[in-house]
Amino acid sequence: MTRSFTSRRPYWTRHTAHAQTTMAPRTSIDELKELLESSTRILALCGAGLSAASGLPTFRGAGGLWRNHEPTSLATPDAFEDDPVLVSLFYAWRKHMALKAQPNAGHFALAELAKRREGFLCLTQNVDGLSPRAGHPAAQLRHLHGSILDVKCFEECGYTEQNNLSDPPCPALAAAAADYPPDLTLPLLDPNVPTPEIDVEDLPHCPNCKNGLLRPGVVWFGEALDELMLMEVDNWIARGKIDLMLVIGTAAAVYPAAGYTRKAQRRGAVVAVVNPDADSAEGLMRNDFFLQGGAAEILPRLFEGVIGKMDADGKIVGA
Ligand SMILES: [Zn+2]
Repeated sequence: MTRSFTSRRPYWTRHTAHAQTTMAPRTSIDELKELLESSTRILALCGAGLSAASGLPTFRGAGGLWRNHEPTSLATPDAFEDDPVLVSLFYAWRKHMALKAQPNAGHFALAELAKRREGFLCLTQNVDGLSPRAGHPAAQLRHLHGSILDVKCFEECGYTEQNNLSDPPCPALAAAAADYPPDLTLPLLDPNVPTPEIDVEDLPHCPNCKNGLLRPGVVWFGEALDELMLMEVDNWIARGKIDLMLVIGTAAAVYPAAGYTRKAQRRGAVVAVVNPDADSAEGLMRNDFFLQGGAAEILPRLFEGVIGKMDADGKIVGA
């Protein structure tokens, strides 16, 4: 499976009859709480909306550009090959933003649910590393698109590093990790200011083959997702009935992630979408759920019966 640009139309509208898609899903948080509390096997699929309350840009929609570049056009192996300095600056800036951000109550709530429900597996498309920082047990978390804190050799000599916290990744990329007051624009983000002149030789190189440049350990468009990880997820799904599938902060419209909702449905799962965007409810069936709102606000309330009361900072304050 490779990561690709696909229709943003929810997958289920392509498979279900019109009569079914027009049925409104349930919207009661109390009903969903009851279902969640009685669920043994729960699968979650998280997207950029989960990290929105942590202040990280989602790029999708709102015409979000980075220095006049479509961010997705920088997230390809070809872009790195053509302009490794520009793509390295882009990722060094994103890494800096991710490290500066704090996990929000949504990340903490999912982490607590995982600690209390052995049968809960969380798939995230986010590369920001906020779920592990919220204490989400690694065994119950899969990063479908890798992590911005991982590093690997562009020449594919096999060299990888996990949880590399260097910020900036090297002195030459310092412009990407500069902190400016909120009322000033970071020069790097101003398309009218030329990017700093950086020699490719000064970018981080692979300590193993000494030849390749180091690149972020994320899945770029056109690249394959990790096969072993995909197999593990499929094995988990095949293990038995799934009671509930949570789709959090994503329209679930981008394959292959979208396919997981379909697979969970085949295992009997009720689908619950948590999203501020009403369009993300499109295609849900009468037995499914749609809770309109942000993950940081809704998840702590939704999981309360399992994890206890949580304050706005994500700390458990009572059972
Ligand atoms: Zn190498």
